[in-house]
Amino acid sequence: MADVGEAREGRKGKANEPDASVAQPGESAEDFGFRDEKGYWRPPYPVAYAPLFQRPFRPGKILGWLFGWPGYLWPINLFFAALAAVTWYYLQPGLLETGTIAGRWILFIYIRNMAYLWIIYGGFHLVLYTLKLHGTARKYAPKWQETGSKKFLFRNQVYDNVFRSAVLGAAFWTGWEVFYFWMAGRGLMPLIGIRSNPVWFAVFFLLIPMWREVHFYLIHKMIHWKPLMRTVHHVHHKNPNPGPWAGLAMHPVELLLYFSVVAIHFIVPSHPIHFLYNSQLTALTPAMGHHGFEGPLFKGWLVTGSYFHYLHHRYVSCNFGEATVPLDKWFGRFFHGVGPYRTRQD
Ligand SMILES: [Zn+2]
Ligand SMILES: [Zn+2]
Repeated sequence: MADVGEAREGRKGKANEPDASVAQPGESAEDFGFRDEKGYWRPPYPVAYAPLFQRPFRPGKILGWLFGWPGYLWPINLFFAALAAVTWYYLQPGLLETGTIAGRWILFIYIRNMAYLWIIYGGFHLVLYTLKLHGTARKYAPKWQETGSKKFLFRNQVYDNVFRSAVLGAAFWTGWEVFYFWMAGRGLMPLIGIRSNPVWFAVFFLLIPMWREVHFYLIHKMIHWKPLMRTVHHVHHKNPNPGPWAGLAMHPVELLLYFSVVAIHFIVPSHPIHFLYNSQLTALTPAMGHHGFEGPLFKGWLVTGSYFHYLHHRYVSCNFGEATVPLDKWFGRFFHGVGPYRTRQD
């Protein structure tokens, strides 16, 4: 973490450029960061992986990461665990109904999922882009979203991203859920009860986010293979300057592969709440990994954002995974975001 002096020096060096990353009164030096000659912001510290995989092994640090704020559990994963439980108990057609394909319950799930998307993605867009309540402080790319460019549907980056995420994304997300609940309703899914398997019920919640990172890494590396990059993944990479709606702005083939992370529940015994937790994390957290700002925002109240992934959008050949399991480090494609672009293993 940089000290105040370093942060000040960074700001002073850009005397000709209004430094939009200047913190609000009362915020600490960590909120300052720097902008390079092209105006791209970076935090005053390199991106770091979760302490779980850092060596030497530090149990105290790991416990802090596990239970601290922001940490592995709080606030994101526990929020989504609660959302999955609320969905299962109050907003999910029962398995007796879903065992038979019918428009009524399928439409219900599609509308429910659309509503979640609009609340989460729309909420971030409203606060950070429409109302611009955080200005450009801690905003990674110097510009706002593009308009008038032929590369986007409707010649508008936001409209393109909204259509791909809210319409196509919601359809693929719902498709996987319908398939799962139809199979579960017919008794073809390996389901467990909470009371009969309380330990596995709890442990699987901890493992699902890590499984998601491994799956995402593998799928993502695969679609960076040139023929698939040209035909499929280029759609997502039209957004070097992402906003929340860029999160699911993907080619349909990528959406199909991306949501296949939930297929693990077809094999590994689990509860439908695990399935919903997995599918909702997959559908809704990209808003937080693409909104273009790096948390903490609003004096620490909002901790989301993924500078790690913004670096992938800018440089393309680094940071294919996420920031918990250090897969990119192990395979030599990690860039921590400080200094000239260079991927590394250490
Ligand atoms: Zn992305
Ligand atoms: Zn990519």
